[in-house]
Amino acid sequence: ATPLSTMIGVGKAAEHGVLIRSGDALQTASHLTTLVVDKTGTVTEGKPQVNDQRLLGENTSDLLNLTHALESRSEHPLAIALTQHIESQLGDDLSAVEITDFTSVTGRGVRARDAQGRELAIGNAALLEDIGASLDALGDERESWTSQARTVVYLAVDGQLAASFAIEDPLRHDSIEAIARLRRDGLKVVMLTGDNTATANAIASQAGIDEVRAELTPEDKHAEIERLQRQGEVVGMVGDGINDAPALAQADVGFAMGQGTDVAIESAGVTLMRSSLHGIVDAIEISRATLGNIK
Ligand code: ADP
Ligand code: MG
Repeated sequence: ATPLSTMIGVGKAAEHGVLIRSGDALQTASHLTTLVVDKTGTVTEGKPQVNDQRLLGENTSDLLNLTHALESRSEHPLAIALTQHIESQLGDDLSAVEITDFTSVTGRGVRARDAQGRELAIGNAALLEDIGASLDALGDERESWTSQARTVVYLAVDGQLAASFAIEDPLRHDSIEAIARLRRDGLKVVMLTGDNTATANAIASQAGIDEVRAELTPEDKHAEIERLQRQGEVVGMVGDGINDAPALAQADVGFAMGQGTDVAIESAGVTLMRSSLHGIVDAIEISRATLGNIK
């Protein structure tokens, strides 16, 4: 491409709220064959809300206060949702529980110990499995929640399931349409997530995405991009979180959601000022129109 057509393309994209860092990124965008999308905060709004809970024990405010004590120390969006939910539920019954040995387990949850020495863990099924806690006490609810695209977060006290919370994070209002546009433009769309398989499948089917990989660590997301590249795909990746940064850097073109974390934005060649997948389709279409015919 000529420097002039590149400049025109970058300028046009900027008018659509798409900031392309280099002419190379624009050039590569015109050749993309696959777009990999992160789920949380990318296909979905990333504003999760707790909308159901099961407390397995008599002292329900104890369970809620323990959950609050751990999650108020985490910056994970699910932790923020739980913290707010418990604050509004407990009101004046909210009490500060002292905890020690707080650790955050990437892609799984958080752990700590309270003053009585009880072992506390909050997170996904994999975390509970790690500590040997059975989920059987929850019964059918787990399946019913996940099939409704809700994420389930569990509290274990001393290795026993003590509470579970269903958290909903709706699709961005325009994700379905943007994904349909991508497919019309001939791109294969693959969704990656750290969330559980059932929830991921439910979100993907709502969004019209038929390839999904769930329960991934940030390293797994990176490896998935490499795998697609080895198959000959030219891969774009869009994400918003720290957990997406390695994958964004590995992709042929990385797209960061404008409201995403700084780490995601720094790892990507393109930033979407509007937090919408339409920005990616705009960028691809503009790159094809300005560079497509010039070899
Ligand atoms: P995603 O790829 O969906 O952005 P993450 O890698 O950030 O997900 O997290 C993966 C999973 O780990 C979450 O779906 C959640 O079940 C669990 N998790 C991580 N941190 C926390 C936390 N602070 N509280 C509860 N669950 C957590
Ligand atoms: Mg995300």
